[in-house]
Amino acid sequence: MESKEKIRIALTIACFAAISILFTARYRKHRKQRQQSQTTCYLKTETKPQSAFKRVLADNSYAPFRHLNSENDENSSVEHPYKAEIEALLKRARVEFDFVGDGNVDLKLSDSYVWIETESQLRELADLLSKERVFGVDTEQHSLRSFLGFTALIQISTQTEDYLVDTIALHDVMGILRSVFANPEICKVFHGADNDILWLQRDFHIYVVNLFDTAKACEVLLKPQKSLAYLLETYCGVATNKQLQREDWRQRPLPVEMVQYSQMDAHYLLYIAHCLASELLQLGSENSASADDKFRFVLEASRRSNAICLQLFSKEIEVSPGESAAASIISRNLNDQGGLSLRPCDTQDLVRCLCMWRDLMARIHDESLRYVLSDHAIIALAHKVPASETEIYDTISQADLNIDSPNIVSSLQSPSPVVCSHLEDFIYLFEDEVRNLEDIFQLILQNHLGPSGSCPLSVYSYALLSRTNLKLVNRLVSKQNGFRNAKQIGKKASRQLFVQKFSCKSPVYHNCRIYANDGRLLCYCDRRKLEWYLRRDLAKLLDENPPAIMLLFEPKGRPEDEDNNFYIQSKKNICVGCGEGNHYLRYRIIPSCYRVHFPEHMKSHRSHDIVLLCVDCHEIAHAAAEKYKRQVAAELGIPLFVRKVVDSRQDEDASESSVSLEEAGVSPLQLRTAAMALLRHGSKMPSQRREELMQIVMQYYGGREISEEDLERALLVGMSPNERRRLLKKKERAFKRSTRVIIPEEQETHDGVAMSATVDTSNLNDIGSLDAATGKPCSKEASELLGTNDADESSLSSCPDLSINGEILSADYKDINFDSRRISEIKHISNFDTVVDENGSPKPKTVNTVQSVSNGTITPKHNSKLSLLGHGPHGKQVVDHLLNEFGENGIRQFCQKWRQVFVEAIHPRFLPSGWDVNHSGRRDFGEFSVYNPAKKASANA
Ligand code: AMP
Ligand code: ZN
Ligand code: MN
Repeated sequence: MESKEKIRIALTIACFAAISILFTARYRKHRKQRQQSQTTCYLKTETKPQSAFKRVLADNSYAPFRHLNSENDENSSVEHPYKAEIEALLKRARVEFDFVGDGNVDLKLSDSYVWIETESQLRELADLLSKERVFGVDTEQHSLRSFLGFTALIQISTQTEDYLVDTIALHDVMGILRSVFANPEICKVFHGADNDILWLQRDFHIYVVNLFDTAKACEVLLKPQKSLAYLLETYCGVATNKQLQREDWRQRPLPVEMVQYSQMDAHYLLYIAHCLASELLQLGSENSASADDKFRFVLEASRRSNAICLQLFSKEIEVSPGESAAASIISRNLNDQGGLSLRPCDTQDLVRCLCMWRDLMARIHDESLRYVLSDHAIIALAHKVPASETEIYDTISQADLNIDSPNIVSSLQSPSPVVCSHLEDFIYLFEDEVRNLEDIFQLILQNHLGPSGSCPLSVYSYALLSRTNLKLVNRLVSKQNGFRNAKQIGKKASRQLFVQKFSCKSPVYHNCRIYANDGRLLCYCDRRKLEWYLRRDLAKLLDENPPAIMLLFEPKGRPEDEDNNFYIQSKKNICVGCGEGNHYLRYRIIPSCYRVHFPEHMKSHRSHDIVLLCVDCHEIAHAAAEKYKRQVAAELGIPLFVRKVVDSRQDEDASESSVSLEEAGVSPLQLRTAAMALLRHGSKMPSQRREELMQIVMQYYGGREISEEDLERALLVGMSPNERRRLLKKKERAFKRSTRVIIPEEQETHDGVAMSATVDTSNLNDIGSLDAATGKPCSKEASELLGTNDADESSLSSCPDLSINGEILSADYKDINFDSRRISEIKHISNFDTVVDENGSPKPKTVNTVQSVSNGTITPKHNSKLSLLGHGPHGKQVVDHLLNEFGENGIRQFCQKWRQVFVEAIHPRFLPSGWDVNHSGRRDFGEFSVYNPAKKASANA
């Protein structure tokens, strides 16, 4: 009885427990769903006019603004592109007196105006304006729903016509007006041009040369007022409603009263300028002795006007994002104790945190600060530290309700959509005990713009993920760490210089799309791949910009069949490690010394294992890979090096020269030619010459060890973007040639000319033809194109820093400078039967190692698969061993291990989704693929 009772109780309890578990689970699921719905960014459903802009000159990143024709180098001081022209005007003003033609101006504002909204209309207008001697200009801005603001309308009035230019529709082509605005022969009349000048630069790289500013004329004339409204009333008898200037100028079609208002703003400028210039002349005549002197007031007005033109637009740069806003909020709200509340430090920190959040969110979403979150709301949040999303919501809406001037806010939604769709952010802003701004900054960026971020990327936000972000974080870190020692700073500076010099500007991934014949997206790839299909009539063009094609045959296998969307990812041109977007190198996760020996069909889908890394991440990944290589060598007993020669006399030389290495510089040309010669002929040139060239390259890298990647990077140093482009073109041409002729794989690749002392720049021009000459990388590329939906390795090689020599030189000879103690731990006897030095000296033996192959007892047969310079034999032995012992599975596991090494070294945060350590790479080959066994068989036949 008793036990039965017990069982019943136990059952009841179990029942309750089960029910409560069920409920909790349901509750959690609900909560999760709710949270997921909240993380949907409002921008996923709302489109703003500026999202149609294809390019913006001033994006929302923390990078400084680049002016027309300015160098990429951010450190070079910014010069006005028309400095000379404007300064010439300041010295000798070109004054326009004839603002209104024959003096009869139609003061009536006619109903007619010309609305300019197409490119051809704009070209016509530019043509027409180029024949004018003077025209009036005004612009209208939109600033609420944009971080930096943008020009929504430009009004241009000639003596006969008023033009309204739709600068939203024409945003990307407004440069068409650049020349008339910069033409010193044509006078532009503005009223209060200070802002307009900067806005035109910011949005269109339009620079005004030869300005007559009616506000400046008022100043010279000592007018009681200098507003346009005053002038319109005084000279034209026109009353204005300046309220309209605050309207939303993005509206299309523009409401009639806004059209009239904007037309009027420019229409009377020429007449007003005419009146003011007459008065200036009059004033001069009354107050001067000589006839020449009577121009002096006109000249003064002109001089003051053109001085405005010399101003340059720049983005505000803060030490840390939102800092100045935070400082101003804090100083405005200090209580008697000097704090914001009972917990002054916490509260102030929270204000800083919230201001940073607001700043970054405004940039990400391209909204103004005030649109995202008001100062009042920030103060209220910092005081209250609300604990739930509802409380956060209420705190903000109440704070905004209490604001005195309701007309500003009434039109604004509070909390803003930015806040509402990202309420969960506040939870971690408030939770964070130790408020580390850098961590929070990274977190926000990751959560919103990262690979699986909540918000859409745009031309405005894209660069937030790049170098500037990195720099900013550096700045934050150094600020938090306080003063660093000088050596560190010096090191960092030289690194930055290197990064700047090195930066690779042309995108590696082109994001062209290939669709299957049923319209499903197969993959993203580069332009050449599309062209390849089109040339062969295997596809038809669907879209020009960005290009897309549809295959006319049924591709073998679809990405979704494999449950892997990696190949349909639009790949970002950023470092997969840190998101750096301004310079990147191709990095092979599986070192080529192994990969080249893989069975053909396992090599085909390489794009998965080739990623972009910035210089810094590249170095880290490379070091980890080298370490793992040594481990592989030790574990399998297959040495990395064939032979190591140590000459004690050379040792001394090396240590002597290493002192001078650190100070001396090297010219980019010298560096490039040296690197090129080493890459092409390193193994064949006389050792003395090689040593000399190595010294040159080492000099550039501050005397440190040199890897093959270093050499490849060195090829680009000091090249202008144009030169890099040319290099790229050359390679592309070579590619086109080579797709026609398929050259046998094992063909000798080098031309056999030792470079010795005759290295010159002509080598650089050979880069392209080299590809053609070898045929190998190109024919391989062509064959990869034949695979249906494999992603584009070919696009990777179009990055100018890479694969200069294709496969052959991409085999590694990294550890040319290694610690011999570490090496001596490894078994040194190789199957090449060579002597291994046991000297054990820890000094770098850079050159000696390279020498070893060519100067040593072995002369490897010219086999393009064996690296002439490094780990080739090791790689081949390792792969052979794996295949013999474990078959292809062994290779697959080996690849996985390499991916693991990579992930552990870099902790990559920007890998395309679908990238997988366990990526099998097992895919069927397309009908046209050379990897297709049937195809191969028929080709051989
Ligand atoms: P305006 O020079 O009067 O044509 O003004 C040009 C642009 O400046 C307008 O489109 C507004 O975006 C901005 N603006 C000028 N004054 C104000 C103001 N008082 N309040 C808000 N925006 C203004
Ligand atoms: Zn968002
Ligand atoms: Mn205006």
